[in-house]
Amino acid sequence: MIVGIDDTDSRRGMCTTYLCAYLVDALRNRNYNHGEVSVSTPWLVRLNPSIPYKTRGNGAVAFEITTTTARTRLEDVKELVKSTVSKFSELDDANTNPGVVFIEDEPRSNLRVSQLKSYYERAVRTVLTQKDALAIIAESGFDYFGLKNKRGIIGALAAAAFVILQRYYRYDFTYELMAYRAKERWGTPRRIDEHSVWEADAATYPLTWDTVDVANRRIVFAPHSPCPVLFGIRGDSVDAIYKAYKIIDSEPVERIMLFITNQGTDFHLITHGTGQKLLDYHSYILDGVVESNPCTLVGGHVLFKLSLPTLSTRVDCIAYEPTKGFRNIIRKLRHGDEVRVFGSFKRGTLNLEKIELKSLNKEELRNPRCEQCGRSMESAGRGQGYRCKHCNTKREAKEVVTINRAIEEGLYEVPPVARRHISKPLIRMCATKGGGGGEGESVIIHPSR
Ligand SMILES: [Zn+2]
Repeated sequence: MIVGIDDTDSRRGMCTTYLCAYLVDALRNRNYNHGEVSVSTPWLVRLNPSIPYKTRGNGAVAFEITTTTARTRLEDVKELVKSTVSKFSELDDANTNPGVVFIEDEPRSNLRVSQLKSYYERAVRTVLTQKDALAIIAESGFDYFGLKNKRGIIGALAAAAFVILQRYYRYDFTYELMAYRAKERWGTPRRIDEHSVWEADAATYPLTWDTVDVANRRIVFAPHSPCPVLFGIRGDSVDAIYKAYKIIDSEPVERIMLFITNQGTDFHLITHGTGQKLLDYHSYILDGVVESNPCTLVGGHVLFKLSLPTLSTRVDCIAYEPTKGFRNIIRKLRHGDEVRVFGSFKRGTLNLEKIELKSLNKEELRNPRCEQCGRSMESAGRGQGYRCKHCNTKREAKEVVTINRAIEEGLYEVPPVARRHISKPLIRMCATKGGGGGEGESVIIHPSR
């Protein structure tokens, strides 16, 4: 049986991953007469990061239970899940609406599997409703449970679907090891020895990533909310993650739990097709030409206009202030640069997560130089060409000169301090080609850490 859970936490407390870790431990430790119940490594599934009504990271969880005996045991498991969700959820918060989905008979027909695939992809890339989830639950005969308005079933079904889909489609995935705080410490400042965190990062990067932000001298693997999470170590190697964990010196940990996750995969990004309309709360990969030189807005945000030839339209691309040094790359763009942008779209604006500088415009039109004295010529008046006022020589038009650019072509990204859970750090792209768009050419990568 696969169990998917979502929307148990609020900004004030709890964390759906903690509830999951608690349940997984409880199920593993329960005496089911000779251990005929086994529980998988749980999954942490990040859903559409741009959705307006999310809690912190918009993450749902799932785990799989295998039994060798009768179905009645699964009824026990379901009861434990329901009572734990009821007990732990932040039900006082108006925006917390827990949902649980139980998949006992895994769908195997092509139709049902592709239906789940479409559902999962839409959960990460678009905006789904409870109706969408309930339709699949009813057609496939799944069991579910919810509290209050039960909106959590949307994410719970997506997380459970991800577990099944991994068997068929082998979606990209990474790991995160979560460490949780003792309950009496929830809401108090976290005690983590910073030096040990830098040491852990140095010993395991790039097999672990987004533990620290070197350029901004910040530790980024621990939240600042009153939730039960002490920290989370993300990476591609389980061994490296545990190695980092052993180096870190912190307050006592209540429990740890390793999750398999779609974090760090860029699965939210939609490669845009010709003629499609850009939709709010969707994230895209778009090819275009820089139309205006970048400008810095009040608050330090940097904006440029990008024209999208295949859509015959343009968007405003913004690197917000929290993206820190990434803005220095954006400031160096020039009209005429060909770029590929990656980010979420809302009300005509694309919030930049990555950018690929494909072809820099190195041509500049300048007033011609006088062939006799070498001075810059001046306009002789509208439509009259250019003239040297010292030698009286004339030229018809401006000349094209090649200029040096202070940046290199290639892929750039926001720093770890501003990175979304689901965004793929460039360091993970080192082995791949095509810059996410898949054209097959090799791209220079400028990872930010
Ligand atoms: Zn001259």
